[in-house]
Amino acid sequence: MAKLHVKKDDQVYVLTGKDTGKTGKVLEVDPDKGRVLVEGVNIVTKHKKPRGRNQQGGIVKQEGSINASNVMLVCSKCKKPSKTGRKFMENGEKVRYCKACGEIIDTIRQART
Ligand SMILES: [Zn+2]
Repeated sequence: MAKLHVKKDDQVYVLTGKDTGKTGKVLEVDPDKGRVLVEGVNIVTKHKKPRGRNQQGGIVKQEGSINASNVMLVCSKCKKPSKTGRKFMENGEKVRYCKACGEIIDTIRQART
């Protein structure tokens, strides 16, 4: 499974497309396809047919997935869209960090004890 540079609940900045410049929270990632779903970004309208008695048909707006390479992580420390790097800490932990300010974003893999 390919690893993406962003993951669920990340705050990301959109680099291209009709929502360029927007930021939003990652709702879903699909590492196999390299696509992400970002809150409020790439809203698509879908026409739903009524199903059963209780569900109405109509137009539903929802997020459409975008290519993960079109988003950048917004660093929680420096608040800038930043490139992320990965590195090993002295204790063997693998972490994701912000290349702009050096802040460690999260731990990818815990140190073996
Ligand atoms: Zn930063």
